Amino acid sequence: MRIDVVTIFPEYLAPLDLSLLGRARRDGLLDIHVHDLRTFATDRHRTVDDSPFGGGAGMVMTPQPWAAALDAVVAQGRTASMPSPHLLVPGPGGVPFTQALARRLAGEPWLAFACGRYEGIDERVYEHAAARMPVTVVSLGDYVLNGGEVAVLAMVEAIGRLLPGVVGNAESLVEESHEDGLLEYPVYTRPAVWADGDATRAVPPVLLSGDHAAIAAWRHQQRLARTAQRRPDLLPASAVTTTLSQLGLRLAVPADAEEILVLQRACWVPEGRINQAWDIPPLVETIDDVRAGLTAYRTWVGHSGGRLVVSGRARISPEDPAVWELGRLMVAPDLAGRGIGRELIAFLESQAPDTCRTAWMNTGDRSERNLRIYRKAGYRRMRTSPRYAGTVELTKRLR
Ligand code: SAM
Repeated sequence: MRIDVVTIFPEYLAPLDLSLLGRARRDGLLDIHVHDLRTFATDRHRTVDDSPFGGGAGMVMTPQPWAAALDAVVAQGRTASMPSPHLLVPGPGGVPFTQALARRLAGEPWLAFACGRYEGIDERVYEHAAARMPVTVVSLGDYVLNGGEVAVLAMVEAIGRLLPGVVGNAESLVEESHEDGLLEYPVYTRPAVWADGDATRAVPPVLLSGDHAAIAAWRHQQRLARTAQRRPDLLPASAVTTTLSQLGLRLAVPADAEEILVLQRACWVPEGRINQAWDIPPLVETIDDVRAGLTAYRTWVGHSGGRLVVSGRARISPEDPAVWELGRLMVAPDLAGRGIGRELIAFLESQAPDTCRTAWMNTGDRSERNLRIYRKAGYRRMRTSPRYAGTVELTKRLR
């Protein structure tokens, strides 16, 4: 496989000479070329950045050196069977880099990487490149690095080790985390019993038993347990959470506002689609609106796998103290359809003070799914809402 990397810090890529990848390069399995972007800048100072049009903080990488560098990469590496590379541009706004993507890329003959710095690369460089080669923006994860070099080191290592001959024991590649959607089981080596100061730490006996079926069963169990504990998002929701009580609702605090806003957007986008309207109040609410809501209502939140997945709020109606107003009932879309919404309604109703005889809520008049859930929970359509266009009010007698 041929790999080209364009960067303003060629020395950042030095680790690609070490360890298994270094050996793969020496063995001719990996043909890596690192290019200094500055050598393609034409001015005296080898400038590669300028201030952004439209204002804003930071600098943007200019198009001219990038276009020249990418054209040079193509001209240098092109062969009859490999007319252009697949260009990968690391960026926090890209598609997630996963084991599955690494595997797909390991099947390609030629990859090129464009390492951005500062606020990123002028958008027209992507257009220039896309006219000449496939381009994919790839993110290492949901955080922001200073430059693409660290991402390239990670990606080249993950892709390179999948090439035949790079890792000595190919079997070890199959058993790893993320290959089949589960994390790997815990691993142990000698000594079987380790005297760790005051503690004695023994290897799980099954691993010393020689019973291969029992070892395989134990390892599989460990993989499931570890995945459920550390990465429940990798398992089907049914394997992780089934009831509201497992989520453990608690009253929201101001620090929950950001996550509530994210959940709100995720839950209301389908509503926008159904109603063909994107100005539904929860979709256009700002973080300050959400914070204000935390003061005006009692809001409850529930978590699964470290993620806020359920929320709902209620208050005594400012217009009628006998009415308990429910609102912002939200269940993360990946947990929908397992009855959690119904449980949430029941929970919010159970929080009504004795003085409230009626529960009230409103929803989009075209939100068939919500209306069905509310009907099943005993709510009856009262009237078209005079307060919010396109919504209906529903009520239920509590006592
Ligand atoms: N302004 C950009 C944004 O908000 O999307 C972030 C620019 S970042 C400070 C500078 C460079 O670091 C990016 O151009 C990219 O090359 C690299 N980078 C930062 N975070 C990354 C991530 N999560 N995955 C891959 N590359 C990343």
